[in-house]
Amino acid sequence: MALIRLEHVSKSYGERIALSDLTLSFDPGEWVFVLGPSGAGKSTLLRVLALAERPTSGRVEVDAEGLHPTGSGSPTPGRLLRRLVGMLGQEFRLLTDRTVYENVALACQISGIWDRAAIRERVNPLLDQMGIRGKEALYPNDLSAGEKQRAALARAMARHPKLLIADEPTGNLDPAAAGQIFALLNEIRLRGTLVLVATHAEDWVRRYPGRVIRLERGILRSDSMEGAPAGVATLATAPPAAAQTAVPTPPVDAPSPAAAPPPEPMPPDESTTVATEPPQ
Ligand code: ADP
Repeated sequence: MALIRLEHVSKSYGERIALSDLTLSFDPGEWVFVLGPSGAGKSTLLRVLALAERPTSGRVEVDAEGLHPTGSGSPTPGRLLRRLVGMLGQEFRLLTDRTVYENVALACQISGIWDRAAIRERVNPLLDQMGIRGKEALYPNDLSAGEKQRAALARAMARHPKLLIADEPTGNLDPAAAGQIFALLNEIRLRGTLVLVATHAEDWVRRYPGRVIRLERGILRSDSMEGAPAGVATLATAPPAAAQTAVPTPPVDAPSPAAAPPPEPMPPDESTTVATEPPQ
């Protein structure tokens, strides 16, 4: 069953049509690029999928199986649904008056985990995975751009989202740092998270082939698998160890598959599909 599904979704801002009648469905663990020129509707599509923007018309359906409170308190259904999604943007948006550790820990607290030991158990493996263990006591302004984005990625993954949305995640990074982020995104995807990436840099599609959605003026132009030429190893489908050794250029100093947290367990028989009421 699809993790998230759009049915005839349109979005307008006044007279301006940002998305026009999109019907799309995404499965757990998919690797998806959203491409198109500036103004094509990429960010709007990602915000709708992140349940952060209400469509003008149409439906967003989320498979709520596996969504359950992970800590004390009883989050509202809206908060629970939003726990489904992690977001990574071009701007790192880390809190500059908090350390790296506190930034990631805060994301745990927002999703209802308050126990300090439980937070540590979540945060430390993420810092390991992102290759920033040892930087946890630093403040964001003491990090390189690549390290900031890896800290932001740790924060986005703190609630073990089933869907990770990255909007131009390498827009402010040099090629080596960008390569590390793509290697990490790919690793996250290989562990079962649906990863959607909007980017201008189409080169990454050649390195990490997968499903490519092309938008133009809010209209779906194509939705297809774009693969590597025959005989070329596809990084996005190789197992993590192979992916790390096969990356042609950027070195990956970060990921340590053994240190990362396992995917969140799915409870046996929890409910089915929820038509969402995205926030206003
Ligand atoms: P992309 O991410 O592909 O550059 P966007 O999704 O940002 O495209 O924008 C799609 C269209 O919607 C553009 O014409 C843009 O000007 C318009 N748009 C996006 N967000 C808003 C907003 N908050 N208010 C008004 N218009 C918007």
